[in-house]
Amino acid sequence: MQSPDPIRSIVIVGGGTAGWMAAAAFARNLGRHLSITLVESEDIGTVGVGEATIPPIKLFNAMLGLDEAEFMRETRATYKLGIRFHDWRHLGQDYFHPFGVYGLKPELGHFLQFWLRMQAQGHDIGPVSDYSLCTLAALQGRMGRQSDDGAMATFGSAYHFDAGLYARYLRRYSQQLGVIRVEGLIADVQQHPESGNVQSVRLKDGRGIAGDLFIDCSGFRGLLIEQTLGTGYDDWSHWLPCDRAMAMPCAHGGAQIQPYTSSTAREGGWQWHIPLQHRVGNGYVYSSRFVDDDTAEATLRANLEGEPLAEPNRLRFQTGRRKKFWNKNVVALGLASGFIEPLESTSIHLIQSGINKLLLHFPDRSFAPANIEAYNRRQHLDYERIRDFIILHYHATARDDSGLWRYTRTMEIPDSLAHKIEVFRERGAFAHAAEEMFTPTSWMAVMMGQGIIPQSHDPLVAYEDIATLRDGFARMKDHLKQLADTLPTQHAYLKQNGMLA
Ligand code: FAD
Repeated sequence: MQSPDPIRSIVIVGGGTAGWMAAAAFARNLGRHLSITLVESEDIGTVGVGEATIPPIKLFNAMLGLDEAEFMRETRATYKLGIRFHDWRHLGQDYFHPFGVYGLKPELGHFLQFWLRMQAQGHDIGPVSDYSLCTLAALQGRMGRQSDDGAMATFGSAYHFDAGLYARYLRRYSQQLGVIRVEGLIADVQQHPESGNVQSVRLKDGRGIAGDLFIDCSGFRGLLIEQTLGTGYDDWSHWLPCDRAMAMPCAHGGAQIQPYTSSTAREGGWQWHIPLQHRVGNGYVYSSRFVDDDTAEATLRANLEGEPLAEPNRLRFQTGRRKKFWNKNVVALGLASGFIEPLESTSIHLIQSGINKLLLHFPDRSFAPANIEAYNRRQHLDYERIRDFIILHYHATARDDSGLWRYTRTMEIPDSLAHKIEVFRERGAFAHAAEEMFTPTSWMAVMMGQGIIPQSHDPLVAYEDIATLRDGFARMKDHLKQLADTLPTQHAYLKQNGMLA
């Protein structure tokens, strides 16, 4: 058996959300053993968007040991209990994708099956959203804390935050743990003449920075993974045709800070509304095939709920992913690794899952191909499952009022998604993999919200006594409603817990 030849230095290229998340996580977990240097350029700046997250971000912050109240103050964060979708299935329709589960048990269990049985027997016990504590609280602007006992165990939350402030907060954290920050523009990259591994990057002012392992967090350009290594890109825009976004923050229109993201389907894409403590993030994600920039800007401006605070930030992107996230001694994270539009706020999560996997597959200086392949396969699966979930929103629609919706509702979808829909439609079952990021609760919320209703139920629940079930549902509904009604408003909750900046 050979002894590994340990990595002694990591160089992170880029100081956006991805770069500083990586720096913080490596400093926390590996900082005692190796040197970590991060290079960023103020001349280039960061993408400047990305404000909504999903629940696993809490695990990332906990892994770093961050104090939640301090983090909330520093990043002007609010809570997010889910996403409210307007006009996605058809104009005038609304549904909520909650982060907690339905019913009174922390796992989805038989809730859906019992609910379907009641429908099959002709009992109208109300929509599934009546049984989601997160939905009931969110729609009243309320917030609570998840606990191990009772219905609060069914609660789940993530954050809306200012991603620029988050990166700055993690920068301070990382530098305190010894990460070296270098300000400068990388002008070129040196590779090993035989292996092709990246050996060092050279700045415009002539300084060189060498390392064993390079983390490419340089944003869409993919300075190392693409411009240097020519890794290649899988284009998914035939499934997800949006390729532009316009972001424009505005002042809060009303007194309440809603604890959810809103997503409203528009003619050529969709518009986000993300309330932070100090402002509201807004943006229109659209397809240039179906709507032009001027129309998109007019739509965005017409639908702001408060005074605009800046001119629009215009962005272009191509949905897809690198053919390899890890190539030679370069691992791409964040926008350098690929991009799936922000409909379910998954980009920051994919940074987190890339970091976690890299810690599990941490290399030595031999960069064993099997280890790299294992990382790439796992990260590819994460991307594909998230991709399918986003396609679902576009495909399962009854809208035919514009070119975009006529295209997405009739386009061919990946087999993996078609199978999931078929299995759910048959009896409300889930064709799910164990490591999947979006749980059955999320799939159920979006499938039913988009009009995919199971045609039958699990035959095993047909043995249950209907009267007992009906009483159980009535008690559960009352209990959840009462609980939601007694929670504090999000503003009161933030104040009580010292989370307001
Ligand atoms: P960037 O922020 O682009 O950072 C790149 C870094 O590389 C910068 O520091 C830059 O200076 C540096 N750099 C580049 N070239 C050089 C060079 N030559 N020399 C030195 N330094 C260099 N994600 C979510 O999770 N939730 C959301 O709600 C969300 N909304 C989004 C909305 C839109 C419209 C878009 C486009 C993205 C959204 N994202 C969202 C994604 C999110 O913004 C990114 O995943 C996140 O900001 C990470 O970006 P990054 O760090 O990879 O890249």
